[in-house]
Amino acid sequence: MSILVLCEHDGGTFKKTATELLGKATGLAGALGTTVSALVLGDAPAASLGAYGATKVFQVSGDFSSYDTDVAVAALRAGIDAAAPSAVLAPASFLGKDALPRVVAQLGTGQGTECTDLRVDGGQIVGRRPIYAGKAYCDVRVGKTPAVYTVRANSFAQPAAGGGSAEVVAVPFSAPTPRLTLVERKRPETTVVDLTEADRIVSGGRSVKSKESYDSLIRPLAAALGATPGASRACVDAGYAPHDHQVGQTGKVVNPSLYIACGISGAIQHLAGMRTSKVIVAINTDPGAPIFEHATYGLVSDIFETCPALTARIQALD
Ligand SMILES: Cc1cc2nc3c(=O)[nH]c(=O)nc-3n(C[C@H](O)[C@H](O)[C@H](O)COP(=O)(O)OP(=O)(O)OC[C@H]3O[C@@H](n4cnc5c(N)ncnc54)[C@H](O)[C@@H]3O)c2cc1C
Repeated sequence: MSILVLCEHDGGTFKKTATELLGKATGLAGALGTTVSALVLGDAPAASLGAYGATKVFQVSGDFSSYDTDVAVAALRAGIDAAAPSAVLAPASFLGKDALPRVVAQLGTGQGTECTDLRVDGGQIVGRRPIYAGKAYCDVRVGKTPAVYTVRANSFAQPAAGGGSAEVVAVPFSAPTPRLTLVERKRPETTVVDLTEADRIVSGGRSVKSKESYDSLIRPLAAALGATPGASRACVDAGYAPHDHQVGQTGKVVNPSLYIACGISGAIQHLAGMRTSKVIVAINTDPGAPIFEHATYGLVSDIFETCPALTARIQALD
């Protein structure tokens, strides 16, 4: 009855959420007197997860490069059934939001979603998650087994790699016939880390005034910092940034170490997507802008002057 961690990978390279969650699970398992195992879908160097605390890795065989909900649900179910864990930890990723809740329903258990912290209390794992668009936090305790928790990326520090290698348990899997036919697959042109996993984000608001300004103010600052560019909905709706850049209630929920909001007012719907960021820097000409109430550092200044100056200063540090 160990803690099972869903370790996602991209073409065989484990995502940082995999190691982040394994590191946290190791601490929780120590407090619970249990062990950590991992669940991997498809071809990836499963044994290497032993370096991050997994004693066993349940590896479901198959090609999961094209996402299909039915296939993903069946694969997750096969892995969880094989591992028979007392708890499952998974990233609050697409897979964790689309397929995992269906498995939870099949298993008749419960799920704490979008947690930003986990702890052991009374011999059980307890999740902490933001509610009311990040205005408050609540504790979530799942009373059934396995207790399932999804966790936002960047919630925990990356653990140092040890020397161990995990035992790999091959889980035989025969995929159900997909009900959907994949017509075309379009990958985003960008090579930067997806917003939901990014450790640093620079976002632009309506105030950038044009796509050209977004490209000349926000993208270079993001590139200089090794950050992912984001945007407010007003910025996206105006056509200055693509839709997949949108942060907020109807965009992406992010949880970076550093979030720089450039000319963004701080509407509740924007805050809902970025409020849990560890350090928030706001640049705004209006000292009364609501974003300043949530900012760790605030600059009352014009983004057309400050962004290029910041970019130049950061580039000069290299
Ligand atoms: C159902 C619903 C869902 C929504 N979902 C989202 C969502 O997911 N994400 C989201 O972002 N919004 C969302 N919104 C919209 C949200 O309410 C706000 O309208 C939006 O966030 C405002 O974007 P903004 O801050 O870029 O623009 P504004 O509110 O217009 O703010 C622009 C800011 O830029 C400052 N400024 C202007 N010029 C400069 C300059 N030169 N230098 C520095 N600062 C300057 C101004 O002082 C102002 O504070 C949603 C709304 C609804 C109703």
